[in-house]
Amino acid sequence: MENAERLLLDLVDAGHLVPMGIDGMYGRGAAFEDTLLRFDAYISRSAKDDGATLVRFPPVINRRDFERSGYLKSFPHLAGTVFSFDGTPAEHQHLLETVEAGGDWSATQKMTGAVLCPAACYPIYPTLRGTLPQNGRLFDVFSYCFRHEPSKDPARMQIFRMREFVRISDGDSVRPWRNMWIERAMELLTAIGLPAVSAVANDPFFGRGGRMLAANQRAQELKFELVVPIASEESPTAIMSFNYHQEHFGSTFGIQTSDGAVAQTACVGFGMERVTLALFKYHGMRVDRWPDSVRRVLWG
Ligand code: AMP
Ligand code: ZN
Repeated sequence: MENAERLLLDLVDAGHLVPMGIDGMYGRGAAFEDTLLRFDAYISRSAKDDGATLVRFPPVINRRDFERSGYLKSFPHLAGTVFSFDGTPAEHQHLLETVEAGGDWSATQKMTGAVLCPAACYPIYPTLRGTLPQNGRLFDVFSYCFRHEPSKDPARMQIFRMREFVRISDGDSVRPWRNMWIERAMELLTAIGLPAVSAVANDPFFGRGGRMLAANQRAQELKFELVVPIASEESPTAIMSFNYHQEHFGSTFGIQTSDGAVAQTACVGFGMERVTLALFKYHGMRVDRWPDSVRRVLWG
């Protein structure tokens, strides 16, 4: 059996993940959820003096903003869209009959104005159209995110939570801010016994053109990840990402600095489920047996 599948079985046996009959979608057990929320509180403590503005969005984004964001150009294969029934009583009858017969009822569904959120930071940029205050803005966001990448690896979910800090300002402030977070995050993870390593990374861009985008992203060091072996030693899993988008969102959504330049953005994202899974992987399935040093940090 593959390591990933064995880890998944252990997590299910321990009650940490509850299978829902579809790869990459699970309920979370009490100890899993408690640990995830304790890690979330630990992040908040570490960032408490930064002055970030907290906003919590539902796990959807306005379809028009999504279309403008460029996500469909880069990741059409990962996007999840929300459809709903909008038909007549006769069409309703047809819908029920098709479902009853086990058929394909997608033709009865119409696209709504909502798309599932692909990353916690996406809903914030469209709200910032216009001119920023002098030192730019800093946001704290947290959301379930959807990506259509079904897998037996428990660390590759289709729906999972991301806690992010997002900096919107000029290039001189955004890049050092991102680099500061790489250092800070390494310390945070080391203190809870996770052997994280930082690495230049790229996003999974779609298609042949995507290969060039990925190479460019790496050459410019626009994306870093902190990786930890979870299901595999050879290909460790990214538990955090640090993304520098340059002017992408600033120009897409018309955001300017107080000097009138196109704003630059960067985001720092914690993969909340992945960090929690790494904790179970490294310290065992029973939280009451975790090392004192780790418990002191998370349970205070
Ligand atoms: P990204 O926007 O791809 O850099 O993702 C931000 C963070 O979300 C990553 O560093 C991961 O920790 C987490 N993440 C990404 N994809 C998944 C997934 N399929 N399942 C669980 N966590 C994920
Ligand atoms: Zn982001």
